[in-house]
Amino acid sequence: MTTAPTDSPAPGPSPARGALYLVATPIGNLSDFSPRARDTLRAADAILCEDTRTTAKLLNRWEISGVTLVAHHEHNERAQAPRLADRIAAGETLALVSDAGTPGLSDPGFRIVRECRRRGLEVIPIPGPFAAAAALSAGGLPTDAFFFAGFLPPKKAARQRFFETYRAFPHTICLYESSHRIEKCLQDIVTVLGPERTITVAKELTKLHERFLCGRAGEVLRQLSDISRKGEFVILIAPEGYDL
Ligand code: SAM
Repeated sequence: MTTAPTDSPAPGPSPARGALYLVATPIGNLSDFSPRARDTLRAADAILCEDTRTTAKLLNRWEISGVTLVAHHEHNERAQAPRLADRIAAGETLALVSDAGTPGLSDPGFRIVRECRRRGLEVIPIPGPFAAAAALSAGGLPTDAFFFAGFLPPKKAARQRFFETYRAFPHTICLYESSHRIEKCLQDIVTVLGPERTITVAKELTKLHERFLCGRAGEVLRQLSDISRKGEFVILIAPEGYDL
């Protein structure tokens, strides 16, 4: 039996005790920002963000003001983690956001979370948008088990090695890809896994030009040439032999 959702009393912002909150933000549609996420950012002593300008826009949209923004990105997260954990240990409430989606997942966050866990500090997720989950839930490929591989290496040879390694993987594989590599990545799928492999490409999720391209890899590659390649993409690869 599953427990019905409630609107209380999961850990919320608690000024009496230091904690790190991992706050998910929209991946396109600003209305996907949850009330709990807003309350958490409003109550934080500081918000750690990848790009302060991107986060400032979100805060502005939701009329959240007066909270200090601290740049926390892939280039400084390792060096900052101990100092930020010191602040949490001293009783501050810090909220971590990324530019879009769930922090720590193909985005900065892991190092500060690990530092807090090592010290026994409180780490509280405020779940919300996650591009992989949106693509998997609506993509039509098996979701009973899946492998989230994030971004593949940018070099063709390394990407092709990845597909060789996982050729017979028995569950759906979920990948992130940028607009300038999406076509090359699909070509590698066709080359290594074959044009008949079933895939789904989810483009611009939650945005105006959201599209799902579903079918055989060779056909999806052709469909891709008919649409703009500008935007963000999630690729799902079905296990061998799976038909939509
Ligand atoms: N942490 C984010 C999340 O929760 O999904 C992922 C951030 S990662 C730096 C950015 C990649 O996520 C993009 O290159 C794309 O592969 C995927 N992505 C993010 N937003 C997306 C969207 N609206 N539609 C499709 N893919 C998206």
